[in-house]
Amino acid sequence: MLKNKFYPFLILSLLTLFGCCHVQRRDVLYQVSTIQALSAGDYDGQECLCRLRRHGDFGIGTFQGLDGELLALDGVFYQVKVDGRVNPVSQASGIPFAQVTFFNADKTFSVDQELSYAELTRYLDKLLPSKNIFYAVKISGLFKYMKIRSVPKQSQPYPKLDQALKEQKVFEFYDIRGTMVGWRSPQYMEKLGVAGYHMHFISEDRQKGGHVLDFKAGAVKAELDKTADFYLSLPDNPEFFELNLGEAGGIDAEKI
Ligand SMILES: [Zn+2]
Repeated sequence: MLKNKFYPFLILSLLTLFGCCHVQRRDVLYQVSTIQALSAGDYDGQECLCRLRRHGDFGIGTFQGLDGELLALDGVFYQVKVDGRVNPVSQASGIPFAQVTFFNADKTFSVDQELSYAELTRYLDKLLPSKNIFYAVKISGLFKYMKIRSVPKQSQPYPKLDQALKEQKVFEFYDIRGTMVGWRSPQYMEKLGVAGYHMHFISEDRQKGGHVLDFKAGAVKAELDKTADFYLSLPDNPEFFELNLGEAGGIDAEKI
């Protein structure tokens, strides 16, 4: 009889040891705001980088006032300014949009063919167990061609994203080594995030980077981190509250 009394304690101890309920889940896409709000010109991020980095070591986004492209890789957060310069950042005035996670590859593939953006993503799509969940995507190695862009900081009153993107600066590189960091999101995410692939690039020497417009892979390693959990942190400010998001359409990768 006495022995049985210990069973609940034993079970509780085992659950604690093996992490039933209270372990922080690392396979979570943590997202700040929505791509639709960003497209509507809501560039005032109230979430600081200090908070964002508590939710991931890998991901993409942008900065207060659309001040360049954000890329996080191996726990280092980088800002790519409009002139293409890349700098690690530890503090930022605010993050209006970002998608991060703690990256742990579930699947790794070697691709040793010269595949375009469309060809490589089609190839990866065939290997996915499902298109209905998220994947953090890391593709590293040699790129025969890389076309990337960054955006200039905007000032109030903010223009919509399609207007702001008319001022983007585009950079092209050939035979460059580096890493693409980003997400593949399901089609049903088109109003919250970018449906399909959304990738940013940083060179191996961490000097060049930006939002990926096009590329041709050389010999690369593709790593996918299956992500079934999603946490959305919405802005708590009047600008976001007053946006009319009910009527606006979805965003796909070609529009950003
Ligand atoms: Zn981007």
